[in-house]
Amino acid sequence: MTIVIGLTGGIGSGKTTVANMFADYGIDLIDADIIAREVVAVGSVGLTAITKKFGNRILLSDGNLDRSQLRTVIFSDPQLKNWLNQLLHPLIREKMLADIDHATSPYCLLIVPLMIENNLQTMVDRLLVVDVDQQTQIMRTQQRDNVSLEQINNILAAQASRQQRLDAADDIICNNGDNQALLTQVAQLHLHYLTLAQAAK
Ligand code: ATP
Repeated sequence: MTIVIGLTGGIGSGKTTVANMFADYGIDLIDADIIAREVVAVGSVGLTAITKKFGNRILLSDGNLDRSQLRTVIFSDPQLKNWLNQLLHPLIREKMLADIDHATSPYCLLIVPLMIENNLQTMVDRLLVVDVDQQTQIMRTQQRDNVSLEQINNILAAQASRQQRLDAADDIICNNGDNQALLTQVAQLHLHYLTLAQAAK
């Protein structure tokens, strides 16, 4: 089985940018955000259960899940939120494991923004954290998403702290610099992970 490198980091830290650099080396990416959408796709077990619970009001006219409606419905009801998590978390985990099983590159990246918050480090062999200073993180997120400082601060407060992530990390990519600095670090880590994968054979 392939070695699993977990990739995490706060909002706007550069996870996607880093993951794409690993993909350029032919490394398989398994992205929790994509899987979270797949498990509620039209015809899925997840969407069928959600529709049974909340009715058709939770669907868009094309049959897809109305995510903003779902967020509104569960927003002020911890029990419903809990119900939804208990439904989706096992489905997401199962799909992650299946995708890891199908990975063909010497190691694969499991990208989970809320890895530490959801205690998913247990699924990975090593944890790679993309670290960035908060000022740069806020500036890049604002430029990308056109959101207010207040909205970003709310998201930051709901996520694990920078220190919590650093404490959990086996490897750290520092993303305070430019793209070239990132490429250099990814190249070094790629070689390191190839060596680990070879040794694990
Ligand atoms: P999220 O979890 O919020 O989706 P992310 O961790 O995947 O974010 P990215 O989308 O990769 O982060 O990066 C956030 C923004 O910062 C993007 O617009 C990206 O192009 C930019 N960015 C990332 N790294 C750098 C860098 N080294 N220099 C300049 N801009 C960068």
